[in-house]
Amino acid sequence: MNFYQQLEQKFRDNAQGSALLLPGDETWDYADLLSVIDDIALKLLDMGLQRGQRVLVQVEKSPENLALYLAALKVGLVYVPLNTAYTEKELEYFIEDSQPALYVGAHARTDVPSAQLRSRSHGCPLISTTLFSSVETGPPPTEVLDSEQLAAILYTSGTTGRSKGAMLSHGNLAANAEALCSAWGWREDDVLLHALPIFHVHGLFIASHCALLMGTPMVFLPRFDAAEVLQWLPKATVMMGVPTFYTRLLALSDLDAQRVQQIRLFICGSAPLTEQTFLAWEAATGHRILERYGMSETIINTTNPLEGDRQPGTVGFALPGLELRIANDAGEAVPVGEIGTIEVRGPSVFSGYWRMPEKTRQEIREDGFFITGDLGRVDEGGRVSIVGRAKDLVISGGFNVYPKEVEVALDKMPEVSEAAVIGVAHPDFGEAVVAVVVPHEQEVTLEQVDRALADTLARFKQPKAVFNLSELPRNAMGKVQKNLLRDAYANTFSDDA
Ligand code: AMP
Repeated sequence: MNFYQQLEQKFRDNAQGSALLLPGDETWDYADLLSVIDDIALKLLDMGLQRGQRVLVQVEKSPENLALYLAALKVGLVYVPLNTAYTEKELEYFIEDSQPALYVGAHARTDVPSAQLRSRSHGCPLISTTLFSSVETGPPPTEVLDSEQLAAILYTSGTTGRSKGAMLSHGNLAANAEALCSAWGWREDDVLLHALPIFHVHGLFIASHCALLMGTPMVFLPRFDAAEVLQWLPKATVMMGVPTFYTRLLALSDLDAQRVQQIRLFICGSAPLTEQTFLAWEAATGHRILERYGMSETIINTTNPLEGDRQPGTVGFALPGLELRIANDAGEAVPVGEIGTIEVRGPSVFSGYWRMPEKTRQEIREDGFFITGDLGRVDEGGRVSIVGRAKDLVISGGFNVYPKEVEVALDKMPEVSEAAVIGVAHPDFGEAVVAVVVPHEQEVTLEQVDRALADTLARFKQPKAVFNLSELPRNAMGKVQKNLLRDAYANTFSDDA
């Protein structure tokens, strides 16, 4: 069975069970979800779309749009979700690159798309989702596909160079979803609180697939709004979020152990969870957040344990079935405890980048290991810690500085709310460590940072400049956009600065 057949089987078996709990007391059961999937699948077939063709989708989160994803899987299309924030100009690249047979999304509303977008779409129909609403019902056939069949292309956020499309098969999705349901002990009475966007691996695959594969309900919120999430928490048993969800909820005075007594598991990922947030959450709710680590190309790589110690600052153990090694540039495993690049191989690892064979060869080794680009270390017990992205590594005066280590030290300062560390060109050191901090109240000075870090970090790791911001620039998944910080402070040490 391909992944959608597996899901469909579950939906049918559990037709009367709740699938989506929505704001305004609306509920979809699995029979409702199945019928909307079938409607949309028919419409896609009516439009003449064929297995293997791409459907490029840039839509708001809604039950119908979740059904659109599942309908695309059902008829064997390749689903290509896009961040709703992308402009028409950015969209042109994705149309050019993915060569879709259909675009569904905001830029197809009546006043747009522009003539230019039309001319660049190579005849691909551009429609908005509302066009799906008037379709007649009737179950279309589910494509019989093998597990190698492409299910989706996820474009990486691409902070440098062209955005790359990671190709994931039905087999990749199924393997990861099954491994997660088992690792997180998914139960028949679980209710997932889902406030993540559905254009990204976290909300679309990791969160949704656990609930769908087990036929359990999701509280399906259109976006993350801390006050609204707080209201829904008593109805859920599991919440998945990015670190910002947790920091924003912590800022609300109504968060306490009583409110989350139904919850059995808080899961966090997509960006590093600070020790401060982990501890503050435990103090407020009694729960130790389970941090896990994943990415578009591999879905989930590691997770802290369901049973056993969840340690802040670590991302846990490789998922069963996935091989993980810490390697040097030649792909050889480095000794236990040393820092190197995290490489993974296993059934959820993508097959390559769409139309980029050269990039694929550079990043997937001949032995099948994918070079994640994340730097980390593994302890004797197999527990993984991430120290930063390889491209964020700062080399100052010939010494390697791992931003995470400096950020952890800065986070411990009582004056600092959060911090990001970057490397900036320096005439003497090549690169210098620069700290960008969000202060609690008054601006944090370089002298204060010097004093606070003097006994904890070697001199070469200490920041040579400190900038204060009211907040760090983050993308939709809560990742700090260090490229923007590097651009903003690029001239800090140059003569004309
Ligand atoms: P994306 O493909 O957008 O999901 O981005 C994947 C990247 O997010 C990974 O390569 C990591 O750099 C980062 N990431 C995901 N989860 C974590 C985590 N728990 N801690 C630190 N970084 C993470």
